[in-house]
Amino acid sequence: MADILFGPVCSNCHEVLPCDIDYEEVRVESTAVSVIEPIKRYNITPYSCPFCGEKFMRIEMPTRLPYRNTIFEI
Ligand SMILES: [Zn+2]
Repeated sequence: MADILFGPVCSNCHEVLPCDIDYEEVRVESTAVSVIEPIKRYNITPYSCPFCGEKFMRIEMPTRLPYRNTIFEI
Protein backbone atom coordinates (compact mmCIF):
# COMPACT_ATOMS: atom_id res chain seq x y z
CA MET A 1 0.00 0.00 0.00
CA ALA A 2 1.12 3.54 -0.67
CA ASP A 3 -0.16 7.10 -0.61
CA ILE A 4 -0.04 9.90 -3.14
CA LEU A 5 1.50 12.94 -1.47
CA PHE A 6 1.32 16.51 -2.64
CA GLY A 7 4.47 18.27 -1.58
CA PRO A 8 6.18 21.59 -2.15
CA VAL A 9 8.63 21.31 -5.05
CA CYS A 10 11.08 23.96 -6.26
CA SER A 11 10.21 24.81 -9.88
CA ASN A 12 13.88 25.50 -10.63
CA CYS A 13 15.67 22.35 -9.39
CA HIS A 14 12.63 20.10 -8.79
CA GLU A 15 13.77 19.10 -5.28
CA VAL A 16 11.06 18.49 -2.67
CA LEU A 17 11.33 21.14 0.03
CA PRO A 18 11.71 19.48 3.44
CA CYS A 19 10.01 22.25 5.39
CA ASP A 20 6.70 23.99 5.96
CA ILE A 21 5.71 26.64 3.43
CA ASP A 22 4.06 29.85 4.54
CA TYR A 23 3.28 33.30 3.22
CA GLU A 24 2.34 36.60 4.78
CA GLU A 25 0.71 39.53 3.04
CA VAL A 26 2.80 42.69 3.27
CA ARG A 27 1.17 46.10 3.51
CA VAL A 28 2.28 48.36 0.67
CA GLU A 29 2.11 52.13 1.12
CA SER A 30 -0.28 53.92 -1.24
CA THR A 31 1.04 55.44 -4.41
CA ALA A 32 -0.82 57.10 -7.24
CA VAL A 33 -1.05 53.75 -9.01
CA SER A 34 -1.83 51.59 -5.96
CA VAL A 35 -4.77 53.79 -4.92
CA ILE A 36 -6.53 52.79 -8.13
CA GLU A 37 -5.41 49.18 -8.03
CA PRO A 38 -3.94 48.09 -4.67
CA ILE A 39 -0.59 46.29 -4.89
CA LYS A 40 -0.40 43.03 -2.97
CA ARG A 41 2.96 41.68 -1.94
CA TYR A 42 3.77 38.56 0.03
CA ASN A 43 6.71 37.26 2.03
CA ILE A 44 7.18 33.57 1.32
CA THR A 45 8.84 31.28 3.84
CA PRO A 46 11.31 29.85 3.04
CA TYR A 47 12.65 32.89 1.16
CA SER A 48 14.74 30.76 -1.20
CA CYS A 49 15.32 27.13 -2.16
CA PRO A 50 17.66 25.35 0.30
CA PHE A 51 19.05 23.29 -2.61
CA CYS A 52 19.60 25.67 -5.53
CA GLY A 53 19.26 29.03 -3.74
CA GLU A 54 16.70 30.43 -6.19
CA LYS A 55 14.40 33.04 -4.61
CA PHE A 56 10.70 32.12 -4.45
CA MET A 57 8.39 34.62 -6.13
CA ARG A 58 5.02 32.85 -5.78
CA ILE A 59 3.29 29.65 -4.69
CA GLU A 60 1.36 27.62 -7.26
CA MET A 61 -1.15 24.87 -6.53
CA PRO A 62 -1.96 21.97 -8.87
CA THR A 63 -4.49 23.06 -11.47
CA ARG A 64 -6.89 20.36 -10.39
CA LEU A 65 -7.25 18.27 -7.27
CA PRO A 66 -8.91 14.85 -7.32
CA TYR A 67 -11.61 16.08 -4.95
CA ARG A 68 -13.83 19.11 -4.56
CA ASN A 69 -12.11 21.72 -2.37
CA THR A 70 -14.81 23.61 -0.47
CA ILE A 71 -12.43 25.63 1.70
CA PHE A 72 -12.15 28.40 -0.91
CA GLU A 73 -15.78 28.27 -2.06
CA ILE A 74 -17.54 30.99 -0.09
ZN1 LIG B 1 15.61 24.69 -6.01
